[in-house]
Amino acid sequence: MFLPCLLSLCSEEQQAYWVPAARSKKVLGCYAQTELGHGSNIQALQTTATFDPATDEFIMDTPTTQAYKWWPGTLGRTANTAMVIARLLLPQESSSSSPPSYKDMGIHNFIVPLRDLHTHALLPGVVTRDIGPKIAFAGMDNGCLELHAVRIPRANLAQRFVRVTRQGVWSRVEGTHSKAAYVTMMQVRAIIVVHSARELSKACTIAIRYSAVRRQGFDDSKTGSELQILDYASQQYRLLPLLAASVGFFFCGRAVLTLLAETEDALLKGRKGQAEVGALMGRAHAALAGLKSLCTTIAADGIEECRKCCGGHGYLACSGLPELSGNFLQQCTVEGDNVLLTQQTVGYLLKSYIKWRTGGPVLDEECQYFVTAADGAHAEGLGEGGKGLRDEPAVLSLFSRRAFATLERLALRLQSLTEGEASLSQAGAWRRVLVDVMFVSRSHALYTVLRHFAAGLQSLRDGNDVSGVGKAGADAAFIQVLERLFFLFAFYHLSKEAGDFLELGLLSPEMVARVRGEVEILLGEVRPDAVALCDGWDWDDFELKSALGRWDGRYAEALLASAKREPLNHQDPVDGWDRTWQPQWKVEEQMERARL
Ligand SMILES: Cc1cc2nc3c(=O)[nH]c(=O)nc-3n(C[C@H](O)[C@H](O)[C@H](O)COP(=O)(O)OP(=O)(O)OC[C@H]3O[C@@H](n4cnc5c(N)ncnc54)[C@H](O)[C@@H]3O)c2cc1C
Repeated sequence: MFLPCLLSLCSEEQQAYWVPAARSKKVLGCYAQTELGHGSNIQALQTTATFDPATDEFIMDTPTTQAYKWWPGTLGRTANTAMVIARLLLPQESSSSSPPSYKDMGIHNFIVPLRDLHTHALLPGVVTRDIGPKIAFAGMDNGCLELHAVRIPRANLAQRFVRVTRQGVWSRVEGTHSKAAYVTMMQVRAIIVVHSARELSKACTIAIRYSAVRRQGFDDSKTGSELQILDYASQQYRLLPLLAASVGFFFCGRAVLTLLAETEDALLKGRKGQAEVGALMGRAHAALAGLKSLCTTIAADGIEECRKCCGGHGYLACSGLPELSGNFLQQCTVEGDNVLLTQQTVGYLLKSYIKWRTGGPVLDEECQYFVTAADGAHAEGLGEGGKGLRDEPAVLSLFSRRAFATLERLALRLQSLTEGEASLSQAGAWRRVLVDVMFVSRSHALYTVLRHFAAGLQSLRDGNDVSGVGKAGADAAFIQVLERLFFLFAFYHLSKEAGDFLELGLLSPEMVARVRGEVEILLGEVRPDAVALCDGWDWDDFELKSALGRWDGRYAEALLASAKREPLNHQDPVDGWDRTWQPQWKVEEQMERARL
């Protein structure tokens, strides 16, 4: 986060100094936003940066325990510099009172040196600590920070978008957008979507490879070799839709990186007008919030499911799955709690919906589906038109109509809650409907993943390179395998969330039953390609760090080798035996002898 912040929030002059220093690891930076008392509600952060015109410095303070920075990675023992998010306090121009009064200018970014670059000793007024053991991620020293009247030069305010003059006057840099500072957050969320695909694919690779070599149970004949556990439909149902999700998230990751690049280009290169930049920012922000929330939720749950699919051995650290799961779990919380993010996405969708319903401008790509989904009468239903269930446009249309219908239902609910005699305030009504908000965001994001998945398939059919490694022109057989994954992902979620489709009148109970049957057929069709699809992710054994997911399938030898490496086994009898157990036995022996 520190380097992306320097690149997106600092002026060219600042970057010329800080970026090479950070890249050469002379400056070891961290991103210090969250406080002990506040994470999600950034507006309530308490750390202050008070401008002192006498010395041309900011005075950094964490005035209460609640204000101590809490969680930043590497802050504990490693970082020597922090990008600190603090409230900027400027002396009131008219203030002649003593002590002077200050105007709170809101949240700004400051580069704060924490340690001496040569001795690594903490600087005066700075206290940092590691915050202690976590579920996983033990290699990271997440830390806390106290700042007590720490002075930094005025030049250390991140100045790409805002400036403070020598006289303490604040201004926005001409031509920049008020939401420009959010760009780093969007970059990180886009990377998290990409990361979700990668980490889920690692877990799938481990669990599917293991399931192909692990044998438990006989078939009817009760003779011959036992069955591969991957041949049980239940194991397929737990694993193969996750493999499909990892591929869907891959295509989604590509799409969000493109959207982000477009937004950055408009924002940072100043090629578009304020209104256009604002619209792009809003769209990218809403898309990334919803996708980050959905992809990390599915990936985190999915990695844990992969672990369970490996039975007892999945509980061993050497399976690689506990670490993978523990390390990934944080993605549901960092860079915006997943539940909070649904509110940001739905806030945008509602605004767009109301604007459009009241005759507003053309909808952007995220909301384009409102137009066709609202016109349900003309939508071709799933299984109609002679194409059977495997009909990409019909699947997309169905998911878009579900997303639209849940959004419209929410809009009507909000309207009824804020009108009439017993009406609630806007904020009260919003709090009341937060459960619906989670589902609307999920419906929208699920449709978005499918949309990007389908676009990725189309791109492959058109002969484009989607791998990013210059391998254009996938063959038809491979595309067919990926198409099965698309339908498996769609129908799996459709059957799991069938209640919505039934309640909204989008599917009949008979159709839901057909879809469920199709999932079973697809599982059987994907099964023969499952291991090859995992191999296609190209994870090597070093990256997987798993005794169960080895490329050669020799999990038994790997488990034994791991047990042999266990330090507890290096000495026999175990170290301490003579000091602890042996004396007890001796006493009992003496007592025994005494009795004799
Ligand atoms: C491993 C890890 C690494 C991290 N690294 C960094 C870092 O480098 N730098 C940094 O600054 N921070 C970092 N963080 C902190 C992280 O960004 C915050 O934990 C996150 O933003 C959530 O804030 P919180 O912990 O205060 O949770 P809270 O905001 O207290 O949320 C707690 C619960 O309340 C719910 N909730 C809160 N507000 C609302 C609302 N308005 N409506 C509905 N529900 C609500 C949430 O959904 C959640 O379930 C890290 C955290 C972790 C776990």
